[in-house]
Amino acid sequence: MIDLDKKIELLKKIRQFLIINLEIKKLMQELNVDRDIYEAYEEVTKIVRQPNIKLYRQYYDAIKEMFYEEYGKKRKDIPWYPKIDYTKCKNCKKCISFCPRGVYDVENGKVVVKYPYSCIINCNACSTMCCENNAISFPDTKIN
Ligand code: SF4
Ligand code: SF4
Repeated sequence: MIDLDKKIELLKKIRQFLIINLEIKKLMQELNVDRDIYEAYEEVTKIVRQPNIKLYRQYYDAIKEMFYEEYGKKRKDIPWYPKIDYTKCKNCKKCISFCPRGVYDVENGKVVVKYPYSCIINCNACSTMCCENNAISFPDTKIN
């Protein structure tokens, strides 16, 4: 059986992978890289995640409570998740395909923050790729 320290180490690495992946995608958008390159990167990251996505989700959910002990709180006590301003949202659904944690979904034809507590703490990458209206917001200060 893997001990707790190793589980936490593994979860941190998964989290780093997700955040680095988002940062790479964000940079590619800022640099306006060729659409083919961006889509090729998307495909590669999907292939990397796909075979293990079910296992990864089960594992992540099972031990995330332990991981958040790092913050001395349960995940649901940590108010870090996106909010959508519907006066600005264009319902383009880019945030759904962008977020690797499946935070967004569609309900009654409208994009919603369906799983707020799946959001990676202190990640705000989706707010920078949202439409020019900046419909997605996060708390002003990062969680310490
Ligand atoms: S990316 Fe922005 S504008 Fe598009 S659906 Fe998501 S919140 Fe709305
Ligand atoms: S919802 Fe959270 S985890 Fe997903 S991209 Fe936005 S900030 Fe990152």
